[in-house]
Amino acid sequence: MSLSLFDFLAAGLLQAGWGPLLIYLLVATQITIFAVTLYLHRSQAHRGVDFHPVIAHFFRFWVWLTTSMITKEWVAIHRKHHAKCETEEDPHSPMIKGIGHVFWRGVELYREARSDRASIEQYGKGAPNDWIERNVYTRHPLAGPTLLLFVSFALFGAMGVAVWAIQMAWIPFWAAGVVNGLGHWWGYRNFETTDTATNLTPWGVWIGGEELHNNHHAFPSSAKFALRRWEFDIGWAAIRTLETVGLAKVLRVAPSLDIRPNIQMPDTDTLKALLTHRFQAMTDYQRNVLVPALREEARVAGAKLRAMLPRKLEKGLVDDGRWLKPDAREQLQQWIEQRPRIRTLVEYRARLAAVLETRSQSANDTLQQLQAWCREAEASGIEALQEFSRRMKGYSLQPVRA
Ligand SMILES: [Zn+2]
Ligand SMILES: [Zn+2]
Repeated sequence: MSLSLFDFLAAGLLQAGWGPLLIYLLVATQITIFAVTLYLHRSQAHRGVDFHPVIAHFFRFWVWLTTSMITKEWVAIHRKHHAKCETEEDPHSPMIKGIGHVFWRGVELYREARSDRASIEQYGKGAPNDWIERNVYTRHPLAGPTLLLFVSFALFGAMGVAVWAIQMAWIPFWAAGVVNGLGHWWGYRNFETTDTATNLTPWGVWIGGEELHNNHHAFPSSAKFALRRWEFDIGWAAIRTLETVGLAKVLRVAPSLDIRPNIQMPDTDTLKALLTHRFQAMTDYQRNVLVPALREEARVAGAKLRAMLPRKLEKGLVDDGRWLKPDAREQLQQWIEQRPRIRTLVEYRARLAAVLETRSQSANDTLQQLQAWCREAEASGIEALQEFSRRMKGYSLQPVRA
């Protein structure tokens, strides 16, 4: 049966109905998501996993075809996001630029970041620079999506053009808008990282596992993003599948934390584990020391905690109100000043954070400061603080196999 010109324009060579077209769209966009999370992000930017050259090249080709993004630029902009997180230099921080701006205009921010060539060179080291990269992907980035448009039109006709348009918006929306925007603004936090990164859902299925953005900021080079029993990372499932058939090699995953009993003084093992899991320590401190102390404060005052301290301010207790507006920070400071017990706990937290964040000093100095911190915490007479210190001393890294 020959195809009339009208039929061809309407539904292309395949004359596919809505169902197959939708399946094609979902499969193609999911491959793009996988190419971004597995190849650009986990492999190229963070070196958590290596792929067989055929897989790596397929991903690189697919990124060119469906997004026009250049590996080196993506890698550089993303590494800079980690290095300068939530500062003026962060290419896409909702804290600095506003959530509306990052969510809706993430592509503009990406374009702006691309134009900073010095940063691209500084942070983009090690990205592919072979013949095809120089002469095709980097030299003709728009040729990918243009080719895809022709193929889409030939196969699916006018509907193919609509599908192509959706494909073009897919990464700008889900990666630049949702992950870069909402992933630093809304959701839950397993780890009290020094940035605002959040996990959007515990099941990372739709955006390749990138939903677990707080976990990722806590352990950036880990190829696996799901770090709690109830969490799922589809990108990790894909990596393990590829690994089973010899097409991927996992280089790094977040080490597990082990708690040794009866450790008298923090030792080098404690320090090593604590530096790796410092965000876990901050989370433990928040949950096991600060929150119970706040509840006790409310109980003694005979008031409801929320009436005494709004949730927004309570969150500020764990990071000295770093993300609060100046007037709210001031309000929190005054609130703390009026409560000596809370003030002591806030000071202990800040001191511990300072010990763990200061990287300029030698490991021995850090260990001595940590030991002093534990001694004082255990002599403080505050039970929750003593208990926290005793447990923290037992921190050690559990060697894990990926
Ligand atoms: Zn981030
Ligand atoms: Zn990252």
